[in-house]
Amino acid sequence: MKKIGILGSTGSIGTQTLDVVDECGFEVIALTANSRVDLLAEQALKYHPELVVLMNPDSLDELEYKLKGQNIKVLSGMEGLLQIVNHPEIDLIVNALVGAVGVRPTLEAIRSGKDIALANKETLVTAGELVMAEAAKHEVQILPVDSEHNALFQALQGEEVKWVSRLILTASGGPFRRYTAEDLEQVTPTQALKHPNWDMGGKITIDSATLMNKGLEVIEAHWLFGIDYDHIDVVVHPQSIIHSLVEFHDSSILAELGLPDMRIPIQYALTYPEREKNRLERLDLVKVAQLTFEEPKKELFPCLDLAYRAGRRGGTLPAVMNAANEVAVAKFMQGKITFQEIPDYITRIMNRHQVIDSPDLEEILAADNWARGETERMVEGC
Ligand code: NAD
Ligand code: MG
Repeated sequence: MKKIGILGSTGSIGTQTLDVVDECGFEVIALTANSRVDLLAEQALKYHPELVVLMNPDSLDELEYKLKGQNIKVLSGMEGLLQIVNHPEIDLIVNALVGAVGVRPTLEAIRSGKDIALANKETLVTAGELVMAEAAKHEVQILPVDSEHNALFQALQGEEVKWVSRLILTASGGPFRRYTAEDLEQVTPTQALKHPNWDMGGKITIDSATLMNKGLEVIEAHWLFGIDYDHIDVVVHPQSIIHSLVEFHDSSILAELGLPDMRIPIQYALTYPEREKNRLERLDLVKVAQLTFEEPKKELFPCLDLAYRAGRRGGTLPAVMNAANEVAVAKFMQGKITFQEIPDYITRIMNRHQVIDSPDLEEILAADNWARGETERMVEGC
């Protein structure tokens, strides 16, 4: 039985990973949360991992109390996450953290020779070049969990990248697909948090509404599959049934289809290269009846082009864009900036950044840190 550690087990991807564990049977060695002590304790009592990590040390006593006498090691902070990714018994790390905090655990897991089921797209946006180079050096597999990349990965089985002419990422278009510029001026965090097709964590749901999520995914696809940005396209497909497509030089196109349920790509990443039965609802094409496609509205949703610009320029610029986005999204959720100010802040930070080419980890983390501080100062006006 495969032995796994789940980073971010209390989140949307984390809890669905545990659903897949229930269905397919894996041994859970480690679980982590940022601050949700109750849920982490509940999961620990059910799965009996060897260790659990709470990122935020404030509630550590509470967690220790809840797990007293269970023979489960309780740790906190980045140190704890790094202990998990270095654990000798774990075969596969599921990285379901949100944000660039996932970079170090991913790199460390690769260096300790562990395959990674990667949901945390910010890792590849921030440090894609380093991560892919280390993965090649240590011969570890990066198994994409993000539905689009999982679809591309499936379509590419038995194929060679040199035969690919284009990757086509599908996007739902988010909750504001039909909105005008005027409508967008009024939108609230509550409206932005209502995704039409997927039930996800808060940050990615806002990213889906701004189209930054698709921008991050373009960069993620570039690093995962080694395709240049001129050959990665985005098409809006509101039903979210086709999860992405690969076009080959001979004009054939392969795609992966399914209901929008993240347990499908999570399971594929966990059981790869095998496939196992599950009891998930099946896609009924007649019920879906129509699959439609549109151009993304790039003028209304500038984040998509910002990501292409950051990806093409490379170096530390994608890390800076990602960090500015993380802060801007948090500020929008707190009601401190409007929806349409999100791309404005990101643009201003990107314009002020002196890009470093081929950065090492320290330079990337410094750029990320600079961008967070600058965005914070700009929003708070101090
Ligand atoms: P989420 O917010 O629901 O969960 C995030 C998890 O990470 C939680 O367990 C939380 O406790 C932990 N966490 C948050 N901040 C942390 C920090 N600073 N340090 C340590 N742990 C922290 O997020 P999610 O929707 O599950 O998304 C996780 C990742 O997967 C993101 O990168 C997202 O873009 C990607 N993704 C999610 C979905 C989805 O359907 N939810 C789909 C595709 C890709
Ligand atoms: Mg996705």
